[in-house]
Amino acid sequence: MSRFLSKSGQALLPYTPGEQPKGRKFIKLNTNESPYPPSPNVAKAILAGFEESDGTDPAPPEIANLRLYSDPEAKPLVKAIADYYGVEPDQVIVGNGSDEILAFAFRAFCDKESPLLAADITYGFYPALCGLLDIPYRTAALKDDFSVDTEDYKGCGCNCIIANPNAPTGMALPLSAIEEILAANQGQVVMVDEAYVDFGCESAVSLLKRYENLVVIQTFSKSRSLAGGRVGFAIAGKELIADMNRVKYSFNPYNVNRLSMLAAAEAMKDREYTKLCCERICGTRERTAQGLRELGFKVLDSRTNFLFVKSNSMGGKAYFDGLRENGILVRRWDADRIGEYLRVSIGTDEEMEEFLAVTKRLLSDREARG
Ligand SMILES: *Cc1c(COP(=O)(O)O)cnc(C)c1O
Repeated sequence: MSRFLSKSGQALLPYTPGEQPKGRKFIKLNTNESPYPPSPNVAKAILAGFEESDGTDPAPPEIANLRLYSDPEAKPLVKAIADYYGVEPDQVIVGNGSDEILAFAFRAFCDKESPLLAADITYGFYPALCGLLDIPYRTAALKDDFSVDTEDYKGCGCNCIIANPNAPTGMALPLSAIEEILAANQGQVVMVDEAYVDFGCESAVSLLKRYENLVVIQTFSKSRSLAGGRVGFAIAGKELIADMNRVKYSFNPYNVNRLSMLAAAEAMKDREYTKLCCERICGTRERTAQGLRELGFKVLDSRTNFLFVKSNSMGGKAYFDGLRENGILVRRWDADRIGEYLRVSIGTDEEMEEFLAVTKRLLSDREARG
């Protein structure tokens, strides 16, 4: 900290992102990125977008022309998202990752007098963001089996956010539970963070017709392989989207760059490719979960592209360190209730076979040492 950092700057508790290793080659299972590249149409569209007009008719699109500002309304991308979900374009807002969308939503709907409720074990960026925006952050404890206790949210008297499926547990609530929360909180905004929805959970978008207090937040980072493109979005009633746009135009009007806008629009349109990748990842997930259970692990029921796992013999930190020494990066939080668990992103089949082989070796080394 410099001596110039403001008082409120000193009080921030920034989020710690997962490690992006340099140098040594790791099997990277620590930040829930896709192990597969984006749709091949993404690179094609970006390259085509760079073509300069040569005066012929019709002129090439030049949409990748970085000399010009990006479209603040991100029209083609917003339309691709609206078409995918069967909503109107004015029900969609896009952001620089869903982290930025979360900031727009929190700033629009919460403030000092209007706190936010979330689970005690969930995405660590929520409390960091509330600290930045001066929003009181309240938590509701997950049950002992790490499921969300919906009773905590019904009639809670404040805005809430529910990651569904939740991270880092991977567990999901049925849509009926989300609907009960929406029905019981009609005077408050209910945000549903669906970063992992494409891996086996039902989206709440279908509830928008009946609940004007719903904001659904999604990202291109996981199921559409564009974590580095930084694109996320929200779908809600048009008035709530207009509220979020007030924040966006007060903060960063050109928030999504031209290349990412192109990339995300193509990724959204290539439904077949997304489906194929998600199916493959879910298959690998189930095989990995089975393998771990056979080794005596507790594996939570995951509807995501990661597993939350605990060994019945190896401590969380020892397991984490053992994997790292063997070139495998995963994520662990030194926190209450979850310190013995690791969050393991699903990689390719080959990567997960190596992960299981190393795990087996670590277990037998321990036994040999007694
Ligand atoms: C990964 C993740 C996000 C953020 O994704 P962006 O890369 O910022 O779009 C949001 N919420 C949850 C629960 C996540 O796991």
